Amino acid sequence: MNRELAEAARDLAAYLRSLDENLAEPPAGVKRTPAVAVPAVPEPAAGRPAPAAEAPKTMTLSPADMDQLAEKVKACRKCGLGHARLNAVFGVGSYKAKVVFVGEGPGFQEDHQGEPFVGRSGQLLDKILETVLGLKRSDVYIANIVKCHPMKNPESPESHGNDRPPTPEEISACRPYLDEQLRAIKPLCIVTLGSVATKVLLGTDKGISTVRGKVYDYPVELFGPGHPIKVIPTYHPAALLRNPNLKRDTWEDMKMLKAILDKGE
Ligand code: SF4
Repeated sequence: MNRELAEAARDLAAYLRSLDENLAEPPAGVKRTPAVAVPAVPEPAAGRPAPAAEAPKTMTLSPADMDQLAEKVKACRKCGLGHARLNAVFGVGSYKAKVVFVGEGPGFQEDHQGEPFVGRSGQLLDKILETVLGLKRSDVYIANIVKCHPMKNPESPESHGNDRPPTPEEISACRPYLDEQLRAIKPLCIVTLGSVATKVLLGTDKGISTVRGKVYDYPVELFGPGHPIKVIPTYHPAALLRNPNLKRDTWEDMKMLKAILDKGE
């Protein structure tokens, strides 16, 4: 066995072990994870790639494997969010989508319904898809950086106003799932919705209002050389609901996306 093959085999074994560990039940007597400190988004050094997938680069999932991955996420307890959530929120849409929209994490409605971007934010996202891109929710893929609802008080999943951003540790624990989803879908483009998703996927410490308005190359090589993925950062729909003045910039960002999708490269 040559050296590269041996390394790939070691990576694969480690990856499978990590998936098995994710299925572990919480320690006896532990009902919910205590609240964790409100987070700062990780700030990778400038010019360095975004936090990369821990899964070996050689491993790819076929679209058919996505259902199996979704089952693993449903059973995952790899970080504290898994002990407080009502539903894991894996993702929704087409496994053949040319564009994947990525938010930071599920909120109250998503936790209750098990689907990303539902409620008022989701309705606005659907409207943007339809009016600017001529697409339905089922034409694209929608997911989050973390799959379980980050709550200020994990003992109260039924409370409104209990959302918080995910911590760096939670992001790091969950990130491999998103990378596997991206490997399976192989989109032309990722749209990051809001500052948290943008900072994580672009590996920047700059806020969304600074980085939006441009097309970036995804800093992680998921499919090997010659298969770049474009990244378009834009505002989270919840921000548009709070400040409708941001809609104009978002429309401009979506027009850049449409140009990439129309070109098909
Ligand atoms: S947030 Fe991700 S890593 Fe944490 S328990 Fe949920 S699925 Fe697992």
